[in-house]
Amino acid sequence: MNSLPYPPELLRDIARRRTFAIISHPDAGKTTLTEKLLLFGGAIQLAGTVKARKSARHATSDWMEVEKQRGISVTSSVMQFEYQEHVVNLLDTPGHEDFSEDTYRVLTAVDAAVMVIDAAKGVEAQTIKLLEVCRMRNTPIITFVNKFDREVREPFELMEEIEEVLGIECAPITWPIGMGKTFRGVYHLLDDSLLRFAAGEEKKSTAEKLDGIDNPLLDTQFPLEVGKLREDVELLRDASSPFSLDDFRAGRQTPVFFGSGINNFGVQEILQALIDWAPPPQVRDGGTRQVQPGEAPFSGFVFKIQANMDPRHRDRIAFFRVCSGRYSSGMKVKHVRLDREIKLANALTFMANERVLMDDAVAGDIIGIHNHGNLHIGDTLTEGETLGFKGIPYFSPELFRLARLRDPLKSKQLQKGLQELGEEGAIQVFENLATGALLLGAIGQLQFEVVAQRLQTEYKVDAIFEPADIHTARWLTFPDDATRRNFEREQQHRMGRDVDGNPVYLASSRYNLDVTREKWTKVGFHASREHG
Ligand code: GDP
Repeated sequence: MNSLPYPPELLRDIARRRTFAIISHPDAGKTTLTEKLLLFGGAIQLAGTVKARKSARHATSDWMEVEKQRGISVTSSVMQFEYQEHVVNLLDTPGHEDFSEDTYRVLTAVDAAVMVIDAAKGVEAQTIKLLEVCRMRNTPIITFVNKFDREVREPFELMEEIEEVLGIECAPITWPIGMGKTFRGVYHLLDDSLLRFAAGEEKKSTAEKLDGIDNPLLDTQFPLEVGKLREDVELLRDASSPFSLDDFRAGRQTPVFFGSGINNFGVQEILQALIDWAPPPQVRDGGTRQVQPGEAPFSGFVFKIQANMDPRHRDRIAFFRVCSGRYSSGMKVKHVRLDREIKLANALTFMANERVLMDDAVAGDIIGIHNHGNLHIGDTLTEGETLGFKGIPYFSPELFRLARLRDPLKSKQLQKGLQELGEEGAIQVFENLATGALLLGAIGQLQFEVVAQRLQTEYKVDAIFEPADIHTARWLTFPDDATRRNFEREQQHRMGRDVDGNPVYLASSRYNLDVTREKWTKVGFHASREHG
């Protein structure tokens, strides 16, 4: 398809890119680590900025009331910074499981992930789910075992749990010396160096070369802990797997670091691992073929839509992952789903607390495109070729509500609001074809609350959500038109349509679904579908 050699400057720029997300169970320390990474990366000057940014948004953006009231983070954001001549794109993800769909989508746009584990709690429910999503694409994972300044669980036990529960091999890179009140630092197993822990330290810790774990310096400095450290290290050399770049990049092995994010400890090592080991932008499945990041023609896909990023503008931004080529302002691209040319101008990039106009972006970068409804999640843009990037999942919702208006005259606004919120992925919206009723589908209860609040503030619609007699939804595929027409006729009252117009079966119960399936064996019933 693309027989021209890849442009050398493009290849050079791509090799400098690192695009990743941080995943964790709520409270493990994701926000803290994000902030420290930005601090070490020079993207922000003072600790506290990420939190400050969060609260500044609270003050100005009313739909995030829910976020404020519950003290949770609902929306993801993207931040770019330079570190050691690399361009690092950090994609933030919502921690609360009710918004996990959003996180799944963000994870399709990264090349690596950092998993934060609370060392007192070990592997938690949300970690398991998120890791499953990473495994679907073999995303390389770097593990940060956090909170070693506290009394936590034994490091061997934690590694064993990660290996057993998450099914991924652990290769320890640093190893903790003590914990809690006697946390002294970590021994770097690959560099044979000591990193000393000092609580609240603002600066980067310097590594002291040791010339072997038997170095008497350790005996004088840590007489109480050194015996255990030497025992541990010996055991590790026998029992744990050595780090393998290939296994890490294939998603089979995770390098493990121990630290304390809040004390800036272990953070620099994570950043270094991202630069040294995390892969640059990778080949992507473009539907009809594999797309190389170094190909000259521009391409990529929308993985997230966010409204009201800036309440003064009431705009919607489509977050777009560049998969190949180079973005330049004013370029014309093909909107594959609409089969139409659109002009891309004024794309944004996101620094820690401001938006900046972007004039150059290559594979791995995330650009923000102002969007008036043309761009949906999963949409592909190219320089002419018909591609469709794969992998952004829609899962069948687990909770359903019927949307009803208090004021029937507002039905147009309700329709518009729900259509837009559905396109944005805030919630799934189905129209019942027989009754015209609008059905909302969610993974988590909080999604309904966010939608109710946004309908009220952004669309001035007061909607009531009533229980719906729906158990589950299935996307339908038909072998031919005649089957489709017959099925639609017979199942009219159970037929719906999603925001992209795809046919959906709205089952009233598991039994109802099974019976219909058995009768219509040629019809495909799908519990998930890809966007686009
Ligand atoms: P998130 O929900 O995963 O984003 O977690 P946060 O970064 O908001 O952290 C949750 C709580 O753990 C906060 O109270 C943090 O101050 C605390 N925390 C984060 N990292 C550490 C750490 O290294 N040590 C200790 N003791 N507390 C931490």
